[in-house]
Parts: sequence; C-alpha cells; structure tokens
Amino acid sequence: MQYESKSGTVTCDPGFAGRVKDESGVDFNRCYQCLTCTLGCPVARYMDHPPSEIVRMVQLGLKGQVLGCSTIWVCASCESCVTRCPNEINIPRLMDALHQMALREGVKPKVAVVPAFHAAFMDPVRRFGRQNEALMSAEHFLRSRDFSPKTLKVAAGLGIGMVTKGKIKLLPARTGKGKDQVKHLFKETLKGKKP
Ligand code: SF4
Ligand code: SF4
Repeated sequence: MQYESKSGTVTCDPGFAGRVKDESGVDFNRCYQCLTCTLGCPVARYMDHPPSEIVRMVQLGLKGQVLGCSTIWVCASCESCVTRCPNEINIPRLMDALHQMALREGVKPKVAVVPAFHAAFMDPVRRFGRQNEALMSAEHFLRSRDFSPKTLKVAAGLGIGMVTKGKIKLLPARTGKGKDQVKHLFKETLKGKKP
C-alpha cells in the first residue's frame, strides 16, 4: 500500500505491526506519543528517528523505513525509556525484535560498523554462553577491518592496559550446563541464522 507524504511516496505494510507485536510481545498500541521516552533517551541525538517516532512508524506499518533506520542499531538497551513510559511500553525489547527482523530480511544497517559490532558481541555469547571483552574486541577489530592508526593506538593502549590490570580476561568463561540453553535460545530467536 502506498501513499504520498511531504517527503515523497511512502510504502505501508498493513501486516507489519501485527508481526512486530507477535515477535516482540510488546503492546505498542497503548503509546499516546507523550515523548517521554525520546526526551530521556541518552542516545536519541545519534538516531535518525527518536524512539517515540519508531513506535508510531511501526503502528503505521512503515516496514521499510523502520528496518532500514539507524535507531534500531543505535539503541543501547539502557531501559531508561521503559522505566519512564506511562504505558510501560518496552521499547528496547521492540528494538531487539526489529533488528532481528532486519537481519533476517537482509536489510543492511545505515551505520557501517554496526553489523561487525553486533556479530562480534553476539558470537562469543552464542559459542561460550557468556560475553568475553577481549574476544569481542579482537573479533570486532577483524570484522570491521579498521586498521587505522587511531584504532590501533586505542587497542594497544587501552586494551593492553585493561588486560594487565585484570579488568578484562583473555580466556572466555563458560556457562557449563546453561551453554546448551543459550544455544537453544539463539536457535529459536534467529531461526538457525548466525547473529
Ligand atoms: S513514553 Fe511511552 S507512551 Fe510516551 S511516546 Fe514513548 S512509548 Fe509512547
Ligand atoms: S533503551 Fe534504547 S530507546 Fe530506550 S532510552 Fe535506552 S537507548 Fe533510548
């Protein structure tokens, strides 16, 4: 379904809101656009659409714009919005569902470094059941192929300093019994795809 807006032709998918609701479990139809979430969001300035706008866009079925925006990747899941929302709308959970949908549909994030960081963050969790900062940093470094002098300086200075002070561990911890449960969670949520 298409309609004209000030910024051009907009395509609307009437079933999108229902699919997002099923996948996220979030009842975003209670949103009355008070903007509390947006005003308290610490990273709203880096988003192309603030969180309240994403909620409205999902309601309207603007699938292309929602899955292709930077917001769903920039959200830091800090939960500040859901804590303040008068309708307890769980925006971080909504964002999680949206970026999993974007990954499944092969929508490339606008922020180039995001897929590399996302994969580098999720891979150690999928393999070992827990996050490991050293592994994540190394994986992100290789995936993003950012070998600029600035990045190398940060990696050498900050990274080595944190390892020697025991702030981050080189070897990943394992969850033991819970590892299989974590793998099962990944299988169910990603439908067999790698994060
Ligand atoms: S705080 Fe809640 S009700 Fe207000 S705009 Fe955000 S999601 Fe909607
Ligand atoms: S959870 Fe995401 S959208 Fe909500 S306040 Fe934090 S960064 Fe912003």
